[in-house]
Amino acid sequence: RGTVVLQVRVAQVTPHLLLVLAEDRTEARRTEAIRRDFVVNVSHELKTPVGALALLAETVQDAADDPEAVRRFAGRIVTEAERLSALVHEIIELSRLQAASAAQQVTVVPARAVVDEAAARARTTAQAKGVRISVGGDLDARIYGDHALLVTAVRNLLDNAVAYSGEHSQVSVGVRQADDLVEIAVVDEGIGIAPEDQERVFERFFRVDPARSRATGGTGLGLSIVKHVAADHGGDVTVWSEPGHGATFTLRIPAAPDDVPRARPDGADD
Ligand code: ADP
Repeated sequence: RGTVVLQVRVAQVTPHLLLVLAEDRTEARRTEAIRRDFVVNVSHELKTPVGALALLAETVQDAADDPEAVRRFAGRIVTEAERLSALVHEIIELSRLQAASAAQQVTVVPARAVVDEAAARARTTAQAKGVRISVGGDLDARIYGDHALLVTAVRNLLDNAVAYSGEHSQVSVGVRQADDLVEIAVVDEGIGIAPEDQERVFERFFRVDPARSRATGGTGLGLSIVKHVAADHGGDVTVWSEPGHGATFTLRIPAAPDDVPRARPDGADD
């Protein structure tokens, strides 16, 4: 941190001419370090569910003559396998986003299309908990972005809002256009986040309460994915929270300039 890494090459061109080439490798070193950390973290995160699966499978083997126990442990194997599958899915998603510019299908996307699709998907889990998701605001705002990535980002924010809220609470998504940015705010009435954790929640694999996150099927990668999607679009994501009274996550993405026509649904250019 704060150190500049220079790679220096020296060549004696003629007896009187010494050529010195200095290349700034600071950013490259930093990226390498982040990659290394990621691999270490991923290996660590994969070990837990894989270990649990092995243990559960052994238990089923030992309980072969107790059908009730077999059913119970088989159910836990299914849950654990689903969690592993979600983790692998998010690791792949994040790696894809970390590769140079994942936002390749950039078009004019109405905010309504993004929030409606994300809300429809999140409602399946929300309903089981009796949580209501409402959508409102300037839904006609036009975003300049990658539809699928934006839906993923808003969906992750909504899944968290539901997971970290009490039963029968309210989650709302509000859209607002502020100059050349479209803001999508996801507001919940849940447990909230302490001030000292508010920056850290965007780090890969960071969870305020690992046990709770595991219980809700969390992977600790959701918000890093949101942050990557925002950055990829030249936007950002921020959090505001009063612990015990909920959290608000605001995703800011560039608005489409007025003179850019909306792509036709058949994908043909206007
Ligand atoms: P996870 O899969 O654990 O939810 P995320 O990266 O999505 O991982 O979030 C990181 C952590 O931030 C969560 O484990 C949780 O502690 C906290 N968090 C995220 N969203 C909320 C929210 N809406 N309310 C309270 N805490 C949240």
